Amino acid sequence: MGKVLALDIGGTKIAAAVVTESGMLVGRQQIATPHGGAAQLAIALETLITPYRHLVDFIAVASTGIIRGGGLTALNPVNLGGLADFPLQDCIQSIADLPCVLLNDGQAAAWAEYQALSDNYDNMMFVTVSTGVGGGIVLDKKLLVGHHGLAGHIGHTLADPHGLLCGCGRRGCVESVASGTAIGAETLGWKQPLSAAKVFELAQLGNVQAENIINRSATAIAQMLADMKMALDLEIVILGGSVGLAAGYLERVIGAQKVLPEIYRVPVQAAHHQQDSGLLGAALWAKNTLCH
Ligand SMILES: [Zn+2]
Repeated sequence: MGKVLALDIGGTKIAAAVVTESGMLVGRQQIATPHGGAAQLAIALETLITPYRHLVDFIAVASTGIIRGGGLTALNPVNLGGLADFPLQDCIQSIADLPCVLLNDGQAAAWAEYQALSDNYDNMMFVTVSTGVGGGIVLDKKLLVGHHGLAGHIGHTLADPHGLLCGCGRRGCVESVASGTAIGAETLGWKQPLSAAKVFELAQLGNVQAENIINRSATAIAQMLADMKMALDLEIVILGGSVGLAAGYLERVIGAQKVLPEIYRVPVQAAHHQQDSGLLGAALWAKNTLCH
């Protein structure tokens, strides 16, 4: 099948690497995601893709947002610096005239994590808790993409009907309660507002306020997992993202599950691939798509 250039377009960075036939990442590069709209994103993609375009046979892209009909639409435009609609496939093919396959980043990561599971599962879900909350679902061993590219956007299920307005326009989404952005926003009234990473540092030192903020996030995730288990009969959940993999977070999610009746609990474990799951998943998916 040849070599693939994988791209991962996120809210804070765009990563690129060549993925070899054996699934190794070679020549990884990353740049900051520009927050100045479509023209700047096109320039950033050209800068990143040009050095690789004669080395690869096709391009696989994992991107934040909704991937539909070759375009990228941000469900929460704040996460992409105000970018609402972008002709991603046309843009990439104008830079490198190669076969190109697009996938949502949560879906791509779910596909990579599913392949990495040591046991045989039919139904799994990947959850990333980071700047936002995203995910991907594998049902009956197949990645769920959806006719509108929406499947797995679990950050925009309901956590609190009276909660804050989410960037997507709905009130009280899981993302608006549990994300790193939401964790940081809880400290806006403090003398010195903190990032999510700093809130975790404080919690490690035993600060009760910081612990409460993180527990609120972990509880919202545990409740969402309970809902998803009842909807999909999930066998396992994989947790990733900078918040999801932060010290003590997984344990807090498991702790919040223990308060629920047994049937609502689902085994949760940490992501295997960490920051490379989007790149690998996109490459695996593109191979699947282009070979069949
Ligand atoms: Zn939302």
